[in-house]
Amino acid sequence: MPELPEVEGFRRRFARAAQGRVISDVITTDRTIVRNASPATLDRALRGHRFERPERLGKWLIARTDGPTVLLHFGMTGDIVAAPQAEGRHPHDRVIFVLSDGEVRYRNMRKFGGVWLAHDRVEEQSLIGLLGPDAAAVDRDSFVRLLARKRGSVKAALMDQTFIAGVGNLVADEVLWQARLHPERRIETLSPRARDALYDVMQDVLRRSVRRGGLPDAPGWFLAVRGEPDARCPRCGTLLARSAAGGRTGYFCPRCQRRSSARSR
Ligand SMILES: [Zn+2]
Repeated sequence: MPELPEVEGFRRRFARAAQGRVISDVITTDRTIVRNASPATLDRALRGHRFERPERLGKWLIARTDGPTVLLHFGMTGDIVAAPQAEGRHPHDRVIFVLSDGEVRYRNMRKFGGVWLAHDRVEEQSLIGLLGPDAAAVDRDSFVRLLARKRGSVKAALMDQTFIAGVGNLVADEVLWQARLHPERRIETLSPRARDALYDVMQDVLRRSVRRGGLPDAPGWFLAVRGEPDARCPRCGTLLARSAAGGRTGYFCPRCQRRSSARSR
């Protein structure tokens, strides 16, 4: 499932293929994937406009043109594919932006997420909804200040897009493992030092994942083993345990990530 690092990879791919190029045609092969416009409206609105530098906010890709903006969300299985014109189109290429030179495709097998057309910044805001600052861009002071307002499990908070945007189940599990925090640890019980450390670890995980173009499954990372049958902690060898914190099945090391505060439950 694409989280901030993958979507940043999509943004860069989109920029390389589309920035500065004129849209000659928008082909929608699945009309349900464009959530707020008909395929004809999307095509008419974009045709003849030039893509500008795409932006990212959390897990959203914001593809601006010198006219309207296209908002893309990748759900579970979304991807951005850049290819020469009409070459090897895939059945899951749902929206195809045909450019003056090549094309960019929004591919999505399971069709969560989608594509939206926004005519201006106000419409863009209302479509994206309430989001916290981008997890990779938020500064320490803002993070600590926003965290002070949160209650409940630390994992649910990290995954709450209205708190910070971009962290999903996988990034959260990696960050919590590296920070040695139990996913159900309550935020209220975190010391100032633990909050600072959480920020540092999150920035480090995001920076390194973005550099690699996505979440790593390299040795030493929790994500390399997480979810495998009988997976063991890469640090201490303990059998991993499951947690449903944040409403998603996650994994943690019961030895490295103790629920150390007695008043947490
Ligand atoms: Zn461990």
